[in-house]
Parts: sequence; structure tokens; C-alpha cells
Amino acid sequence: GTTPRFRNEPLTDFTRPENRTAMRSALDAARRRLGETLPIVIGGRRIETGRWVDSVNPAWRGEIVARGAAATAEIATSAIDIARDAFPAWRDTPAGQRADLLRKVALILRRDKFALAALEVFETGKQWREADADIAEAIDFCHFCADEMQRLTRPHRRDIPGEDNEYFYEPRGVAVVIAPWNFPLAILCGMTAAALVAGNTVIMKPAEQSPAVSARLMDAFEEAGVPKGVVNYLPGIGEEVGPVLVKHPDTSLIAFTGSRAVGMLIARQAAELAEGQEQIKRVIAELGGKNAVIVDDDADLDEAVHGVVASAFGYSGQKCSACSRVIVLDSVYETFLSRLVESTRSLEIGPAENPGYYLGPVIDDEAQRRILAMIDRARRQSRLAYQADVSALASEGSYVPPTIFADVSPSASIAQEEVFGPVLAVIRAADLTDALRIANGTKYALTGGLFSRSPANIDRVRREFRVGNLYINRKITGALVDRQPFGGFKLSGVGSKAGGPDYLQQFLIPRVITENT
Ligand code: NAP
Repeated sequence: GTTPRFRNEPLTDFTRPENRTAMRSALDAARRRLGETLPIVIGGRRIETGRWVDSVNPAWRGEIVARGAAATAEIATSAIDIARDAFPAWRDTPAGQRADLLRKVALILRRDKFALAALEVFETGKQWREADADIAEAIDFCHFCADEMQRLTRPHRRDIPGEDNEYFYEPRGVAVVIAPWNFPLAILCGMTAAALVAGNTVIMKPAEQSPAVSARLMDAFEEAGVPKGVVNYLPGIGEEVGPVLVKHPDTSLIAFTGSRAVGMLIARQAAELAEGQEQIKRVIAELGGKNAVIVDDDADLDEAVHGVVASAFGYSGQKCSACSRVIVLDSVYETFLSRLVESTRSLEIGPAENPGYYLGPVIDDEAQRRILAMIDRARRQSRLAYQADVSALASEGSYVPPTIFADVSPSASIAQEEVFGPVLAVIRAADLTDALRIANGTKYALTGGLFSRSPANIDRVRREFRVGNLYINRKITGALVDRQPFGGFKLSGVGSKAGGPDYLQQFLIPRVITENT
């Protein structure tokens, strides 16, 4: 066939006045809808339970963005039953038709881009450009999964005289998709789109912090005409409904993105054979990181500072790809550190609604407390090189000051544990060998970076810095679908790169039919 080549959705240029105007009116419209209630959607039915999971604007504590109906264990069970009943017809729907539905979803998301981005600004505290990028990535996942499914359904035959052989894929069954809040549309949409286009039926469990953005995704699936019961929307408390969904005997597949602790728990629960279970559950888990950037002694320090600041403090460090360690070669250590501190000092902090601020609050008060406690512990082990003052904002929202620790020991907890906040550990390395040892010396292997002008060193780091996504002379965040398929290994996950050529196969079962002719 002649599938058109995949193209990434362009990002919105907010230097253009018409785009700024559109975003401002989308923010006004989103504000008028604040506090809306969002029912559970299963089998096309809308259900409320009288219990809510509220999402709160992280910049204005007390401003309820939306109230998602909290699913109960019984509702979670019936969601699986409904998805199981919807499976055979969806499995037998031609793949091309499923792909076309995803392309329709992409068009709806594109039409609603500003509205969705505005909602993310309120619900998750994303800056305009970060929210816009999340919507663009969701659109990319829809197109990419549609194209990939068409590629995988091309005939794969090995016929010889007297024998026809056909290799083809089938869906697995009911997929449970459990998503985090930090890319509230893209990650949920990516996992769901893959499951769906492959012919599985889906229960979407969004994070508690982002029920509203995920409800809009459900609306888009419905508007595009996805049949009832094929995609279901189940907001609720992870600890309550998660185990019910994971342990259900009719669950075939769990696609999870989130923390290591929850990912490992799901892997364990999914491995236990439930009464009546007829297949081995597949778990796809994309987890955390402790990502490092190495700064070589001949690096362009302007570029290095710029890249590290963007990677460490963009969206307050709340990206699984974020830089949380910078490993600097001895001879440039002091110069780099002082420039890094000066650059971080210049970052403007405030609510994401105002596009003048570089970073805003963290997701909620619980995250704020957790990160501040990690900073407190680190202060006892490491030297505080810089901390911003956010005291004027602290009464309004869940702010955590951008914080830099220097001369950090590679084994200190701040150099080993994921923070998921605006905290950076600067580590001194004697030489490149030392830097690589430190860089590889955590349990994670998600992203990493190098700033260097030496071709020999670049070559060596390419080979020896073992992470899922390595970036040379640029920031380490902002992977694009298809261009930089994304995901890690070691304790960073067991999935096969989202937005890459092997991703969809995880949602499928291969079969072979041989006919004696
Ligand atoms: P999280 O606490 O693990 O939550 C993720 C999801 O799991 C949420 O929907 C949560 O529901 C649910 N959950 C909680 N307990 C559960 C249980 N017992 N059983 C089943 N599901 C359960 O993670 P997060 O704070 O949202 O996200 C931050 C983490 O995600 C970081 O570690 C980050 O590195 C990682 N991440 C990784 C990638 C990647 O591609 N590798 C991408 C983004 C984020 P509730 O919200 O209701 O608790």
C-alpha cells in the first residue's frame, strides 16, 4: 500500500498574536467550566457514585477544576465484563476501520487543541507550550498507531509449492490502561490508541489528578464513533480499583505508565493466576528514571547550561525524562556550576496561566510535601548550591523551589532516588571513565545526555552510557513520536518504546496458519 509517511503534529507558535489570543479565550472558556462533574462511562452508560476524585488547580489551592466520579470495585468489575462482551465484535472489525477511527480522534483533538491545552493549564499546571506539546503528542500517537496497524496487517506469507503459510496478528482481549497525570492526554491516549487499533477493548483508568483532561479523551473516542463498551472511562482511586482491574480473570493486558512501586506491584499481581483465568497476562510498564547529563571538559558551556536547565526545571522536573543529575568533568566543574546557578536564578516562577513564567507549582500538596522532605534529607548529606525563594507563592499553590545541590556523592540518596520535582544534583567526575561509571550507577536506564565537542568521547558515550534514550548536545526531554521512540530498561520499565516500530506488537498475538495445498 501507499501509506503516507508519518509527520509529527506541529507545535503552536505562541509568539504569533492570533495563537496567544486563541489560547487566552480558551483559558476563559475553561475557567467558566471549572468544577464540572465527570461521570464514569462504561458501555456508553454514564454513572455517578456520589463519591468524587477532585482535581485541584496546583497554582490556586482550593480551586476545584473538576470532580470525577470515583468508581467502586463493583463498577470496575462490571467495566471488565462489558469490555469482554464488546471484544469479539471489535476484534472482527477490519483493522483499516479501526485505524480510520483513530484518525478521526486525531482530527477531533486537533480541532479542540486550545481548549484541551487550556484545561491542562488549570488541571496539571502545565505551561502553555508544555500543554500544547502534550496535545500534539496525543495526535501523533493516534496517527502513528493507525499507520503502524496498517503496516502490521500487510500480508506476510511464505508459500511454497504444495504449502501456503500465513503469519498474522490478533488482539489479546481486554486491556487495562493505567496512566499518570504528567502527560495527562498523550500517555493515556498513546496506550489506549495502541490497544484499540490492535483490536483490544479498553478500560482507561486516569490518574486522580487529571480526570478532566482524560474525560475529554473519552468524549473524543465517543464523538469519533468508537462503539459502546470498546473504550470505557473509569476514574477512581488507584489503590481501590487498580487491583480489581489487574487481578480480574478476563483482563488480558495491563498497559501501565507511572511509578516503579506501583509498576512492580502490578507485575506481581498480574502474575498470579486467578480463578477462571484463561490466558497469561501481558504487562507493559513504563516507570521512572534517575536521568543524568554528562558535561565533558570541552563542552560548549552555554549550550550545556541551557540544555540542563530546560531538562531539569521544565514543568518543574515532573517528566520521567527529566534531568536530575548532572555529572561534570573536574576542569570545568566550577565554571559550569556557577553558570548553572545564575541561569536557574533567572527563571521566573508562577502560575502556568501566565505564559511569562518558566515554571510553576508541582502537581499537588502531597507531591510538594514529599519533595520538600527529600530536599530536607539531602541538605544533611550534600551542599546546597542554590534554592529559589517561593515563599510569596506558597500560600497560593503547591510550589517547590528550584533547588541545586553541589558536590553530591554518587551514592547519596539525592543522586539515586527519583525526585520527580525541580531538584538537581551536581556531581564531580575525575574523567570520562569516572563520569560514565557514575552515570550508569543507578538502577534506572531511561534517558541520558552528553555535552561534548570531542568526536572520540561522543563515540564512547554512545556505546557505554546505557540508557533507553540518549541525547547528545541537546536537552534530554521532549521525545517525539516516531523520531525518538521513548522508553527505558533496567528498573525503568519492561515496555518496548512508545512511538516506535515494536510498540504495537505488545498489544497483539501472532498466529500462523499452514495449509497443505
Ligand atoms: P503513580 O503514583 O504510580 O500513578 C500512576 C497510575 O497508577 C495512576 O493512575 C494511579 O492512580 C495508579 N495506581 C496507583 N496505585 C495503584 C495500584 N495499587 N494498582 C493499580 N494502579 C494504581 O505515578 P504518578 O505519580 O502518577 O506518575 C509519576 C511516575 O510516573 C514517575 O515515577 C515517572 O517517572 C513515571 N512516568 C514514567 C513514564 C515513562 O514513560 N517511563 C512517563 C511518565 C511518568 P491514582 O492516581 O488514583 O493513585
